[in-house]
Amino acid sequence: MTQSEPRARIPVAVLGATGSVGQRMVALLDGHPWFETAALMASERSAGRPYREAATWVQPTAIPASVAHMTVEPTEPESRCRLVFSALDASVAGPVERAFAGAGHFVVSNARNHRMDRSVPLIIPEVNPDHLDLVRSQSFGPGAIVTNPNCSTIGLVLALGPLHRVFGVRRVNVVTMQAISGAGLPGVASMEIMDNVVPFIGGEEEKMERETRKILGELSGDHVRDADVVVSAHCNRVPVVDGHTECVSVALETRAAPNELISVWNEFVSEPQSLGLPTAPTQPVRYLSDESAPQPRLHRDIDGGMAASIGRLRPCPLFDYKFVVLSHNTIRGAAGGAILLAELAVARGLLTADD
Ligand code: NAP
Repeated sequence: MTQSEPRARIPVAVLGATGSVGQRMVALLDGHPWFETAALMASERSAGRPYREAATWVQPTAIPASVAHMTVEPTEPESRCRLVFSALDASVAGPVERAFAGAGHFVVSNARNHRMDRSVPLIIPEVNPDHLDLVRSQSFGPGAIVTNPNCSTIGLVLALGPLHRVFGVRRVNVVTMQAISGAGLPGVASMEIMDNVVPFIGGEEEKMERETRKILGELSGDHVRDADVVVSAHCNRVPVVDGHTECVSVALETRAAPNELISVWNEFVSEPQSLGLPTAPTQPVRYLSDESAPQPRLHRDIDGGMAASIGRLRPCPLFDYKFVVLSHNTIRGAAGGAILLAELAVARGLLTADD
């Protein structure tokens, strides 16, 4: 037992348990050493039905036997689970998450609604674990809300974070090729995505540009001072099932040789690794030297889908360098990232099995 490990498994509820991210969460929580799925919640359409019937299961692993027969509950605060994972549709997540926090729950959210709130931490556990302290200045009630960034932002900032720490990042241009699982269930219509690229994902470019500055920013008392980094994002949907690929150009504050960037990425470890958190990848960022890497089908599952893969580092005629980063959008970019964030909150003493 490590110092940070809870004495008993913590019961958790999954909100939006029937959706794309909710299902991934349920699959990743199966057999988790610290957390135990105790409640599955979704809309009135699903409430009252056995989970195996309510969820149109689209995960590559079988539906866990421990939850298949559980009855889906209406999405209402209840007392069994202090820790709540929200994979709710953004159209409803805002007030629902506030209601859960107001009732004393510690909400770890994948939804966009509260990410940019002044007192809400927006966390990639390896990049800005210290921002978790913001919860102490929240006024939602006895509970708290912490958030996981947008799935494309997570891949981008896993690549930028280590560079920013060592060389300083000034300007970023990113062009994404995003998987269809990022669009939730039932997903993008086949007639729209087969044989096609859709050069528009509503709100995504603004999220990448704003969230990156907050995550790379500095904690300053009761808020985060945004990093002075200019980000321009172009977001595209492509016919890939899982894994967002991003072509990035970056301008750095200090000059650096290509091998220095590669060393910084490959040697990057942070609090989740030093604490030995159960979902932490051993190497959160890895540089692949093959000239045609990374590719979603080949590299999205590295380290259980929790590692970002980088490749094709080369000089950029506009900025300093350009490269490609790939990360799994429903694992590192959503469910796995949220579970790692909850583990970090437990390890930092923000919630315990006795709460
Ligand atoms: P999804 O597949 O559409 O799932 C949405 C979930 O919300 C379903 O479980 C649905 O339940 C539930 N829901 C909808 N209306 C509800 C209501 N009125 N009351 C209670 N529950 C309700 O979406 P998703 O892709 O899993 O995304 C979930 C959240 O994560 C979104 O906020 C999304 O932006 C964010 N996110 C997604 C990804 C990704 O890669 N997919 C990555 C990062 C973040 P029913 O099945 O009963 O309708």
